[in-house]
Amino acid sequence: MASIQFIDITKKYGKSTAISHLNLDVKEGEFMVLVGPSGCGKSTLLRMIAGLEDIDGGQLFIDDKCVNDLPPKDRDIAIVFQNYALYPHMTTFENLAFGLKIRGIDKKIIHEKVMAVAHTLEIENLLQRKPKDMSGGQRQRVAIGRAIVRDPKVFLFDEPLSNLDAKLRTQMRVEIADLHKKLKTTIVYVTHDQVEAMTLGDRIAVMNHGEISQIGTPDELYNRPENLFVAGFIGSPGMNFMEGRINIVNSIHMFFDNSQSFEVELNVIDKTKDGQEAILGIRPEHIVIVQKIGEGKLTFDAVIQHIERTGFESYLFVTSFQHKFTIRSHDTRNLTEGMTIHCSIELANIHVFDKSKGERIA
Ligand code: ADP
Repeated sequence: MASIQFIDITKKYGKSTAISHLNLDVKEGEFMVLVGPSGCGKSTLLRMIAGLEDIDGGQLFIDDKCVNDLPPKDRDIAIVFQNYALYPHMTTFENLAFGLKIRGIDKKIIHEKVMAVAHTLEIENLLQRKPKDMSGGQRQRVAIGRAIVRDPKVFLFDEPLSNLDAKLRTQMRVEIADLHKKLKTTIVYVTHDQVEAMTLGDRIAVMNHGEISQIGTPDELYNRPENLFVAGFIGSPGMNFMEGRINIVNSIHMFFDNSQSFEVELNVIDKTKDGQEAILGIRPEHIVIVQKIGEGKLTFDAVIQHIERTGFESYLFVTSFQHKFTIRSHDTRNLTEGMTIHCSIELANIHVFDKSKGERIA
């Protein structure tokens, strides 16, 4: 187990900056997920921890030691890649044993360790098979085995499930979570998939353009996104947004949308200026279909344009004035496309962001 600390880290490729003055603390034993769109710098960070990427500015600590100039082989870190990176001519046993063998470890101990890991991952029946004779999921399990057999201080995972089909991905996700509970080793896990991030991470760092937009637990990111990027990135279907302006009327902050169709009383911090441009954010499950328009809430009528039924829940794509909203609902049996519905939103469930900076106001 080890802690990892990025202090003011910068990385450039030629003239373009991939990582800019980034700070991040990963605690001992923590499962930290780095998530963000392609090209945001996740893999670069991971490769820096492994020592596969030079650092142009700042310091990287593993435990209390600055490792900027420490070669990869001296870092005691194991990495699991998306493409498994198994040796094709070796059996599973040989793939698992290889790293120990080149360290000159006694044959008997290697055998014990390989068997223990094979038992943990339930791959004993695959020990004599070569990669070409195994499925994607089995190969990925062997790749994970090869990482854990060394008992490293830190595990790095670089999009390990991206090549697997949806069902297997779900299964492997559960297995990786279980493995972390068992081993308690520090994990840094890179993915572009927000469901993977939300289900695996103790904490998640959401990255955008080489910077961290927000770090928090899955609950914090979902319930209190600090900016528009995180609000839009986390959650599927995504948050609904409505643009408009905040005016202070009789000391009350009111939001008026651009079409002047909606007005909402807001509970915002005092420094919000009169006339400030703002964006409201509403999660699809927080728009509730009601029988009657009520008070103390944001209520409006909407027309159903399209219904997507997934079995367990449905997504309604509706329009109200010039706005489009997505609603997540569990009971849509009596609803049809073209129908007008009454919608209601609790004021406490409305997120408010400053439009120009994209930061949360309330
Ligand atoms: P992610 O893992 O989030 O997809 P990366 O860390 O791979 O992002 O890349 C971050 C940025 O750095 C991207 O703009 C990418 O094009 C650039 N980059 C990554 N590796 C190299 C490289 N070897 N040479 C030049 N640019 C690179």
